[in-house]
Amino acid sequence: MGKYLMVGAGLSGAVIGRHLAEAGHEVTVVDSRSHVGGNCHTERDPDTGVMVHVYGPHIFHTDDEEVWEYVNAYERFLPYRNRVKATTGGAVYSLPVNLHTINQFFGKTLRPDEARDFIVNEQADTSIDDPQTFEEQAMRFVGRDLYEAFFKGYTMKQWGCHPSELPASILKRLPVRFNYDDNYFFHRFQGMPEHGYTAMVERILDHPAIDVRLQTVFSRNQAGAYDHVFYSGPLDGWFDYELGRLGYRTLDFERFTCDGDYQGCAVMNYGEVGVPYTRITEHKHFAPWENHAGSVCYREFSRACDPGDIPYYPIRQVAEKALLQDYVALAEGAEGVSFVGRLGTYRYLDMDVTIREALDTARGFLGHVQAGTRPPAFFVAPL
Ligand SMILES: Cc1cc2nc3c(=O)[nH]c(=O)nc-3n(C[C@H](O)[C@H](O)[C@H](O)COP(=O)(O)OP(=O)(O)OC[C@H]3O[C@@H](n4cnc5c(N)ncnc54)[C@H](O)[C@@H]3O)c2cc1C
Repeated sequence: MGKYLMVGAGLSGAVIGRHLAEAGHEVTVVDSRSHVGGNCHTERDPDTGVMVHVYGPHIFHTDDEEVWEYVNAYERFLPYRNRVKATTGGAVYSLPVNLHTINQFFGKTLRPDEARDFIVNEQADTSIDDPQTFEEQAMRFVGRDLYEAFFKGYTMKQWGCHPSELPASILKRLPVRFNYDDNYFFHRFQGMPEHGYTAMVERILDHPAIDVRLQTVFSRNQAGAYDHVFYSGPLDGWFDYELGRLGYRTLDFERFTCDGDYQGCAVMNYGEVGVPYTRITEHKHFAPWENHAGSVCYREFSRACDPGDIPYYPIRQVAEKALLQDYVALAEGAEGVSFVGRLGTYRYLDMDVTIREALDTARGFLGHVQAGTRPPAFFVAPL
């Protein structure tokens, strides 16, 4: 029987820990926070009763049947479709940009083929052959008017730089739909946990061989007490930032409450640079099966992440990737630790991908235990 430590009680630590506990091992899970669930943490607001997504809204969506069955084994998921609206130029539109948005924005009544012709032949800037930047990519695919209304300002606020400084890869495909489908995600399985994500993670961690210690900060010198550590904290943090800090964007949430219904939907984006926040989320709309007289909303502001802030989105531009490469080299030389999850591998990971990777990591690790071989620093390569 091995003695294993999970640093972090988010989805990565919980899923790996549960798998190893079920395989007969002794598991300790530590988290510096006062709750489990990591960034997916949800809690009921005591005044309104609204289930609040404390670190920003989380919508579960996946095509991975095993992962869908996994989450449903620990919590009931109720149907939820993410339908986002955008306020820009004094009007409210439907996102992602779809036929409704195009017709409303240009004052037309186009059918799908007509809309495609209109965008491709009259809007798109076809003089751009090989788009290099986000801006060129958007101009190439949707043209200046839609780009400026829906992509430019939002992107500048979210990333803190001009879209001409961002790579084209951020906007890969044609970001427009020529039908009235306003479901944000394409995935087969989509839903919201009836009692929130934290309830689900608590159940995943509820096993006699798992010892959960909250408000417990891990430092590297504690690793020796365990046969192996799964570290879902920041990769550079493990090395005390000795090579410098990997760049992140952080978010500030300005919380406010009101009576009734503030905006009539869960997510309202604000595309204009003059509005300092990127969006307002109204949390009761993430649980449409509940009724609450009051409401809890977040205005969301994005900015560069300083030491002490919560790292949200890894920047992963050229400079960050070079530094990441150096940290990966250091990590590969480290003994007795595997780096997992969104922070341990410095990637943006949706919840379903996090769970998929955690399951694969746990299985891969048990294979190494059985074979007596050294587990890798990364079960999934960060680069
Ligand atoms: C703003 C935002 C919105 C998102 N929305 C969605 C969405 O709608 N749908 C979706 O599928 N995914 C979404 N995600 C992704 C989702 O949050 C991640 O997939 C998930 O949180 C990853 O889990 P994790 O366990 O790897 O990391 P985390 O949840 O970050 O957990 C890591 C834990 O480790 C702890 N920790 C770190 N260092 C230490 C230390 N030294 N000692 C002790 N504890 C430590 C932290 O406190 C934290 O609790 C979103 C992410 C962000 C940033």
